[in-house]
Amino acid sequence: MERGHLTWPFFEPRHRELADQLDAWCAVNCADRYIDDVDSECRTLVRELGAAGFLKLCVADGGNRPEVRSLALARETLAYHAALADFAFAMQGLGSGAISLFGTVEQKRDWLPRVASGQAIAAFAMTEPASGSDAANIQTSAMREGNEWVLVGEKTYISNGGIADFYVTFARTGEGEGARGLSAFIVPADAGGLSVAERIEVVAPHPLARLTYDNVRIPADAIVGEPGEGFRIGMETLNLFRVTVGAAALGFARRALDEALAFATDRRLGSGTLADNAVTQEKLADMAVLIDASALLIYRAAWQQDEGGTDHRRAAAMAKLHATEAAQQVIDAAVQLHGGAGVTRGVKVEELYRDIRALRIYEGASEVQRQIIARDLLKERRP
Ligand SMILES: Cc1cc2nc3c(=O)[nH]c(=O)nc-3n(C[C@H](O)[C@H](O)[C@H](O)COP(=O)(O)OP(=O)(O)OC[C@H]3O[C@@H](n4cnc5c(N)ncnc54)[C@H](O)[C@@H]3O)c2cc1C
Repeated sequence: MERGHLTWPFFEPRHRELADQLDAWCAVNCADRYIDDVDSECRTLVRELGAAGFLKLCVADGGNRPEVRSLALARETLAYHAALADFAFAMQGLGSGAISLFGTVEQKRDWLPRVASGQAIAAFAMTEPASGSDAANIQTSAMREGNEWVLVGEKTYISNGGIADFYVTFARTGEGEGARGLSAFIVPADAGGLSVAERIEVVAPHPLARLTYDNVRIPADAIVGEPGEGFRIGMETLNLFRVTVGAAALGFARRALDEALAFATDRRLGSGTLADNAVTQEKLADMAVLIDASALLIYRAAWQQDEGGTDHRRAAAMAKLHATEAAQQVIDAAVQLHGGAGVTRGVKVEELYRDIRALRIYEGASEVQRQIIARDLLKERRP
């Protein structure tokens, strides 16, 4: 896998060591895995990633937030080798992110070590049938009754739905209108009244479900942060992981370019190979430029976020937007270069073609990223 970018000034020696360790781990553990049952494969991957120590990157270490550069490097490397390994890794971070960022000492103690060791599978339950991009419109309610919260409602498109041990769930508690009236809760999967209403099949298989909350009772101290802070908690969690979605897309794109290079140099065309052809070379060059631009945007945003200080939402949105859109183009070009083989089941670029698609939709669709960028550009120009 391409490693040239690790010499960029965004990185320290420990990042290069991490990338090497992950690459070596993937070479042994991700090669030629046959996915028969996606649930058990995910559970196994979480356990293996935990045992290897990589899931520690996904959770707060004492008072320190997860480091975005390490998360991004891990996702880039895992995605290069196996989309499901990247998924298993990423969800441990996103699912427990609210606890890492806003949890009490007790919540962190109770959940984060188990997430980091791979013993507890995490999920992030925000989307509902009537509120996706418009998260401020969440309808699931949480009412306080004595020493408990009672949740009623429905969530959909929840990754790890059906295999998670807990769902960080966003619900309306009514402190204010819209975004000002939401709170976040830790809901254990075995809480009475929580059930998987439907499993959802998507183009690139992973555990995904619609959940129903039928008077789910959880203790008063299962709330994360203060009542009414849920929207901010959800958005800050998404902000932390947004760049890493781009990094996963980068991993897919790098793999597509490598597959295209291998195919083009091997495939006979007339008296030479496909790679000797000028049209092919132009395509390969465009793919490489898109990939480098993605990497620059991702690791700039990751470095800025790790450095802290100011608000880096625009850089993170640019990184996610560009990297996911560019990866789609790169993978499509790789499929085209492969001809019929490119759309044949079992060929890597066909798998990548399906793996990339949802990344342009979840954790803030491309249209939403453009809105974030444009609002940030305009905010200083408006009276
Ligand atoms: C594979 C997968 C995994 C997911 N995992 C999770 C998960 O773990 N947890 C979770 O909570 N959710 C998850 N989601 C849900 C995901 O976050 C939502 O699908 C996403 O937020 C979009 O919401 P929606 O599907 O309701 O589409 P909508 O919000 O209805 O959007 C439909 C279209 O309208 C566009 N659009 C929306 N608003 C605007 C606007 N203001 N201006 C212009 N265009 C706009 C969108 O970009 C999109 O193209 C997952 C989704 C998928 C596909």
